[in-house]
Amino acid sequence: MQQLFRYISLLEPTRGISKHDFNRRYAHWDMSSRQIQISAISFLTAVLYVAFAFLEKPWASEQVEVLMFKLHIFVNVPLLLGLSFLAYKQRFYRYVMPSFAALPIVSMSCHAVIASKLVNYTPFAPEAYLGVVWIFVVSGMTFRYALISAITALCILAGSAFYFIEQQSSYVMHVFWLACSFSFGFLGALMLDRSRKQFFVSQQELQHLAVTDPLTGLYNRNQLNIVLNKEMAREQRYNRSFGLLVIDVDFFKSINDSFGHEAGDNVLKQISQDLLQSVRKIDTVIRWGGEEFIVVASEVDKQSIVALSENLCKKIEGSEFNGVGRVTVSIGATLYKLDDTPSDLLSRADKALYKAKETGRNIAIYTS
Ligand code: GH3
Ligand code: MG
Ligand code: MG
Repeated sequence: MQQLFRYISLLEPTRGISKHDFNRRYAHWDMSSRQIQISAISFLTAVLYVAFAFLEKPWASEQVEVLMFKLHIFVNVPLLLGLSFLAYKQRFYRYVMPSFAALPIVSMSCHAVIASKLVNYTPFAPEAYLGVVWIFVVSGMTFRYALISAITALCILAGSAFYFIEQQSSYVMHVFWLACSFSFGFLGALMLDRSRKQFFVSQQELQHLAVTDPLTGLYNRNQLNIVLNKEMAREQRYNRSFGLLVIDVDFFKSINDSFGHEAGDNVLKQISQDLLQSVRKIDTVIRWGGEEFIVVASEVDKQSIVALSENLCKKIEGSEFNGVGRVTVSIGATLYKLDDTPSDLLSRADKALYKAKETGRNIAIYTS
């Protein structure tokens, strides 16, 4: 039983994401990917109910036929169409699943009412079996909602049949087919749920790998354009300026040559940690490549970007690098100007870095 619960519960989150955050992201992704399915399935089911309502039913009395027509056309179809619309609109998102779970309960209650009035239940019974499988694997309901909905529907179907199926052997057969539908549906839904979660985890893992530098754990250069575009949009909308620092380790080649490549790697890892500790949470640190880093500093003016870059220089200079001793960096800093493209911004910061190297290294230079 415990194993079953572990199987049902969410898979382990990928690196760097808290369980809470992961669950939230999964719920959002899951719901938005289900909405279109729910909308389409509800619509298709409504159409099938309309078709059923107009089919000839020689196995039912005229009275029951009228009742069937009314319940299908005036109860099931409007509910399904309403839900199809609800699921289609993003803003009704939170109401979709509870309403969706309630819908089959209403439909199966209608089924029970009609069935209780039929003399020959056999041609109508498949709706009950199909209904249970529909809830689990066709509807697009999340596993938990489907389970609640299917158990309730099953109780209504089996409970009401006890009163209207007179022959005991026929009732046992009916419950048997219901149990078959429930177990097939349950297993199908469980496997679908599991593969959705697995797909989500691998998608998150790939997304993480695509933007992360494996050595330092910082964002890699793929993330730069995303961050810059976000900052540029913010600047244009809220008039909040941001800046960019290009940081290059001084004489890094000679660190590699003197202490080995592994020691060089450790220096890069420690610098990454120092940078992360020294910037604010809203800033982004990126490994640009080799021994070069970029910091995108949000909401800064000239004075604060200069202070930030000088602090970073001092922080690295003051750090103790195991077995390597003193390491310094040079920094080129600039602020975003309206109408800058990302490459304008980068090339200005690069020029400032070049000046810092020419000036003698271990220095931050700002250029406007
Ligand atoms: P400068 O002060 O002018 O920046 O000199 P530098 O030696 O730092 O610059 P240069 O561009 O000559 O050398 C950069 C070196 O960084 C060369 C390359 O082997 C090394 N490097 C690049 N990526 C890595 C890495 O991932 N790990 C290690 N250990 N070294 C790397
Ligand atoms: Mg370099
Ligand atoms: Mg260098």
